[in-house]
Amino acid sequence: MYNRNDYVSDKDWEQFLEFSKDLPTPNIVVSLKTIKKNFIKLRSSFPYAKIFYAIKANPGEPVLQMLAENGSNFDIASRYELDLIKKFVDDPNRLSYGNTIKKASDIKYFYENGVRMFATDSKDDLKNIAENAPGSRVYVRILVEGSDSADWPLSKKFGCHPDMAYDLLVLARELGLNPWGISFHVGSQQRDIGSWNDAIAKAKYLFSSLEEEEGIRLQMIDMGGGFPASYIDPTNPLDVYAKEITRFLTEDFGDDLPEIILEPGRSLVGDSGILTSEVILSSRKNNTALTRWIYLDAGKFNGLIETLDECIKYPLITTKDGDKEGDVIIAGPTCDSMDVMYENARYRLPITLKQGDRIYWLSTGAYTSTYASVAFNGFPPIKTYYM
Ligand SMILES: *Cc1c(COP(=O)(O)O)cnc(C)c1O
Repeated sequence: MYNRNDYVSDKDWEQFLEFSKDLPTPNIVVSLKTIKKNFIKLRSSFPYAKIFYAIKANPGEPVLQMLAENGSNFDIASRYELDLIKKFVDDPNRLSYGNTIKKASDIKYFYENGVRMFATDSKDDLKNIAENAPGSRVYVRILVEGSDSADWPLSKKFGCHPDMAYDLLVLARELGLNPWGISFHVGSQQRDIGSWNDAIAKAKYLFSSLEEEEGIRLQMIDMGGGFPASYIDPTNPLDVYAKEITRFLTEDFGDDLPEIILEPGRSLVGDSGILTSEVILSSRKNNTALTRWIYLDAGKFNGLIETLDECIKYPLITTKDGDKEGDVIIAGPTCDSMDVMYENARYRLPITLKQGDRIYWLSTGAYTSTYASVAFNGFPPIKTYYM
C-alpha cells in the first residue's frame, strides 16, 4: 500500500525477510544497525549536544548495550529502568532521573546508585529530592505548547508554568540543591519545528531573570525528545530540525550556549522496527459491504497501542501488494471492541488478502515492544528479535 523504498532499502528488506521468515507471528524485528545509524546522525546534526536516550521508547537490552557502547547517556523514568541500564553503564553521571512523578523512596534509590541529576515540576517533589538526594542538580520542566502539531502529545501531564519554574529554582537553592537548568518536551513526533522556538524563548527568559534577580546562573537546557520517525504523515528531515533549532538557540543565547541535552526516543529507534502480523480473518458485515474487516494476530494490546485515536499511522506492506485494493478496517485479535487500529484513517489493502497472509508494519521500533498488556485474553506480549 505504501512505497516500501521510502522507508526501507531493498537490501535491508531482503535481509529482514530472510531473518524473519521462520519466526512465529506476531513479532517485531529490530535492526540495531538502523539505530546506530540514527544515533550517529543525530550526534553529528547536534554536535554541541549531549544525548540522553529515553529508555522507554525501546528498552531492549541489545539496544541499550549498543547505545551505551557508542557513548549515549540515558534518561530514566523508574527504578526498574535504572536496574536495567546499570548492566551497561557504570558511570552514574551518564544517567538522569527525568520523570517528574516519583516516590521519595525511588529518589533515594537513585541517589544511592550515584545519580545526581533530577527533573522536577512541583514543590513537593522538589522537597523530596532535597531530602533524599541532597546537593543534587535539579532541572525544572516547563509547560510548553505544541500539542496540536505533535502526533503523540505529552505536555499537559508534565511541566509547570515558567513563573512557577522560577520559584522552584529559587527554592531549590534554599533547600541546598543545585539549580541546574530547564527542560521541556514539545510533544512526541512533533511536526512543527517552531515549537522548539517558543520553548527555548521561555528557557531564555528564565535564565536571564534568575541571574539578574537572584544571582542564580543556570547551566543547562534539556530540549527533550519530539524528533520524528518515518510514518505516513510527512515531516521535515532531521537536518532541517537541527538547523532550525540551532538557529533558535543562537538567536537567544548567542555563541555562548549553555549545556544542551537531547532526550530522543522515537527518532532513534522508530525506523528500526518491523512488526509482522498475520491475517486471521478477512470478512464483511453484510453481503454488499464495500469495506472489509481485516483481523490480525497483533493489535492494540500487543504492540500497536500508539494506534489509539489513530494517532500514529504506520506504513503497511502486505504479501499481496500489487493486487487491486479496497477500503478496510484493521483490527486486533482480542475480544475488546477498542482493539481496532484503523477505522477512520481509511487504509486500503489488497482485496485478495486472506487468512495466513502477512502484513508488515513498518517503523514500529518505538513504543511497541513493551507497550503491551501482560496477557489480555491470554495473548502474550509481542516478542522482539534483534538483527
Ligand atoms: C518519552 C520521553 C522522551 C522521548 O520522547 P520522543 O518523542 O520519543 O523522542 C524524552 N524525554 C522524556 C522526559 C520523555 O518522557
